[in-house]
Amino acid sequence: MNLSYWEKESFFKNIDIAIIGSGIVGLSAAIRLKELSPKLEVMILERGSLPIGASTRNAGFACFGSMTELLDDLKTQSEDVVFSLVEKRWKGLLKLRNRVGDANLRYQELGGYELFRKEDVSDFQQCADQIDFFNKKLNSIIGEKGVYKIASRNIPNFGFEKIEHLIHNQAEGQIHTGEMMKTLLRIAQAKGVKILNGIFVKKLNDVEDGVELETGSGWNLKFKKVLVATNGFSKTLIKQGEVVPARNQVLITKPLQNNPIQGTFHYDKGYFYFRNIDNRILLGGGRNLAREEEETPEFGTTEIIQNALIALLKNVILPNQKFEIESTWSGILGVGNTKKPIVQTISKNVSVAVRLGGMGVAIGSLVGEEGAELIFKKI
Ligand SMILES: Cc1cc2nc3c(=O)[nH]c(=O)nc-3n(C[C@H](O)[C@H](O)[C@H](O)COP(=O)(O)OP(=O)(O)OC[C@H]3O[C@@H](n4cnc5c(N)ncnc54)[C@H](O)[C@@H]3O)c2cc1C
Repeated sequence: MNLSYWEKESFFKNIDIAIIGSGIVGLSAAIRLKELSPKLEVMILERGSLPIGASTRNAGFACFGSMTELLDDLKTQSEDVVFSLVEKRWKGLLKLRNRVGDANLRYQELGGYELFRKEDVSDFQQCADQIDFFNKKLNSIIGEKGVYKIASRNIPNFGFEKIEHLIHNQAEGQIHTGEMMKTLLRIAQAKGVKILNGIFVKKLNDVEDGVELETGSGWNLKFKKVLVATNGFSKTLIKQGEVVPARNQVLITKPLQNNPIQGTFHYDKGYFYFRNIDNRILLGGGRNLAREEEETPEFGTTEIIQNALIALLKNVILPNQKFEIESTWSGILGVGNTKKPIVQTISKNVSVAVRLGGMGVAIGSLVGEEGAELIFKKI
């Protein structure tokens, strides 16, 4: 079906920059472009009726790295690389809080905990040995002393079973993911960003004076400049850099009679994560149990992972309480061989801001801004 003259004239004419994807990165980029130049005509093309990828489906941890994860990263990357990413996450969180507001985000700094089982004792020992080093580093980044603390004596307060040790991170917080996205959409629209839902971009073609987008509706749309913010769905659109889709499954309980946990919790080196929300527990992860199967951009849940999540609830998190599962869902991460996002220009008129990994709530605002600034330079 062709676009009518009216549709072309009224909806698509004189757009300076089109952004593909309305997740946290696409929205932050659009907002930044309007801050840089309010007169700029910015349009976001989003394939879903909602921005359904990772940004509306995540766990809402406002985190910057648990100790085992950072120790793991230090095995393959330099201290500079690892801690500059921690700094980016922290600054990204501050940017998000500043832009959206703590009340809108329902931000709560309830702290985070890393759980260690009997079989994780040597990991725990390594963390305990390095805690002063990590606290020094974190102090220089976030300006707080003693961010990480051993908190194993608190295990009985949570009622966990099969957990031998805990490390507390006092600077970790949590947000309400849905409210974050609702507010970002509102801010973008209030600044005059045009958001079109239901437009699936199939292909980008560089042409003489711009970029032509082939869409699922059969329309070919032409724009002067394009920013790609499609994260885990980028493989079909861009060839530069490796972006591997990684599905993450989640479940949420019905409200509990007595919810003994408050905060954000990392289990099994962060492969599983859980938190309190509205007197329920939200629990996700486990993609290490079926790596190949979960390397997909398709949404869906599987028995093997859902059963593992339920077993974790029953045996470790809520061993003394009956619970019911209210619902399950999945989201798609974009990962690669390093945790560094890809923010780069890939042709005369196209830049990309993708591969956010597992901490896009933290870095998404900054990555969006960096993408915006790259494409803005080309205007
Ligand atoms: C289950 C889960 C839990 C997570 N938990 C946390 C957490 O607690 N803390 C944290 O910091 N991070 C977490 N993350 C990661 C975080 O959510 C992501 O890194 C972040 O949301 C990525 O944002 P984005 O804008 O890059 O991508 P997305 O949110 O995926 O947005 C990309 C958008 O592009 C659209 N799109 C894709 N292809 C096309 C196309 N061809 N045409 C048009 N539109 C297209 C999609 O529909 C989507 O809306 C989690 C992720 C998942 C999946």
